Amino acid sequence: MSILKLGSKGDEVKKLQEKLGLTADGAFGPKTDAAVKEFQKKNNLEVDGIVGPKTWNELNKIIDKPVSSGENKEKYPKMQNPKQYVHIIINYGHSEKTPGKCSPLYSTLSKTDQRYFQQYPQFGKDRYYEWMSNRVIGKQITASLKERGWMVDEIMQVSGNGLTEINTATKKYVKEYGSSNCIFISIHSNAAPAKDNGWANAKGWCIYTTKGQDKSDKLADCIYTYADEYFVKEDGRNIRKNTTDGDPDQESNFSVIWNAKQLGIPGVLTENFFFNDIDDLKYLVSEKGQNSIVRTHVMGIEDYIYKYMVRTMK
Ligand SMILES: [Zn+2]
Repeated sequence: MSILKLGSKGDEVKKLQEKLGLTADGAFGPKTDAAVKEFQKKNNLEVDGIVGPKTWNELNKIIDKPVSSGENKEKYPKMQNPKQYVHIIINYGHSEKTPGKCSPLYSTLSKTDQRYFQQYPQFGKDRYYEWMSNRVIGKQITASLKERGWMVDEIMQVSGNGLTEINTATKKYVKEYGSSNCIFISIHSNAAPAKDNGWANAKGWCIYTTKGQDKSDKLADCIYTYADEYFVKEDGRNIRKNTTDGDPDQESNFSVIWNAKQLGIPGVLTENFFFNDIDDLKYLVSEKGQNSIVRTHVMGIEDYIYKYMVRTMK
């Protein structure tokens, strides 16, 4: 992102104006200047009207409006509000009793790296635990969706052998709300075969669907679009293509999306970067990484709903 100020022009100015809720004409004039200063004041930043890295960092926490909702509103003037009937079922993968699913101890790292990870005790104090992380991230996604007016049901696994528990809960919700009203998403992070010191060298975000083409692939495509936007274009991270169906390492995780398929609802499982790759883990626990993960899920889910779940009023 460039440094923007009074007189700047172009697409980045448009983006800035969209974030601030202004008309996006791409010209940084007095109105934009005033809005930037107001924003800086609210966020305890230096009030100079100059949009540098610190201001961008705060601005990027604002989630963009869904792209397709406007288009669809024009296409379907008598559209029912999907926020009144769509139920988003979110599973925070794993319970604290799930064995493994953690990084090597932070004490195996350099002092600098240890200090870095100690800033994020919510992911585990001595090492990263996937179940804690899935909840930290999942709850932020839930909060963001709820803030935007969506109905969300959380499935938090408590037993060690939790797949049945997750599948039973999903079935209960689908029975209650109807299969045409539900979406299922399971939040995870990935691990790769470890080298001698326990850490691995594998990078990237990915998403799993069940085999064959169904609604899940459409949902995955919608989320993938935003993954490309936020992870790759904005943050310079890797994403892995959705060609991973049937990977034996993910067999147990597939159970929850297979269950969704049997229930007739779109279901995906996201692997939010590799927790035993030091570089991926640094990004995954950072505010920037979490913010991009949340935005990718929220925007992708909304996009799917507005593209495939809208109904006209009778
Ligand atoms: Zn997992």
